[in-house]
Amino acid sequence: MEWKETGKHKNPFGNDGIKVEIAAEIRNNLTGEIRHHMTDGIMEEGDAHPHAFIWEEGNYACDCNREIFFFRAGGETAPDEESACTDDRYSVNLVNPITGKAFYEEFKNDQREREEKLKQIGL
Ligand SMILES: [Zn+2]
Repeated sequence: MEWKETGKHKNPFGNDGIKVEIAAEIRNNLTGEIRHHMTDGIMEEGDAHPHAFIWEEGNYACDCNREIFFFRAGGETAPDEESACTDDRYSVNLVNPITGKAFYEEFKNDQREREEKLKQIGL
């Protein structure tokens, strides 16, 4: 298995699946800084990669959530005031930390830098 399983996913309305570890590369589009938010995604049998829907169209497509992840990934607490619900301040790639390959991309990141960074954070 080329994904790291983190748990089971029970779906009362469809197929059960598993949760796998993913690294979200979140880029602050103003500064260009990229931070890694570790999270997980759901895979069902036959899927080649975890579902990206929540990042594409769901709650995590919104800058208000992306900003919170970005701050936390840097060991900072997000600002108290509610962050704006824009959609152009943060861009996200989703990477399998085991293989270093992206399965969802909103911006181009250098593959060597990606792998270096994953090594640095101990993956
Ligand atoms: Zn929002």
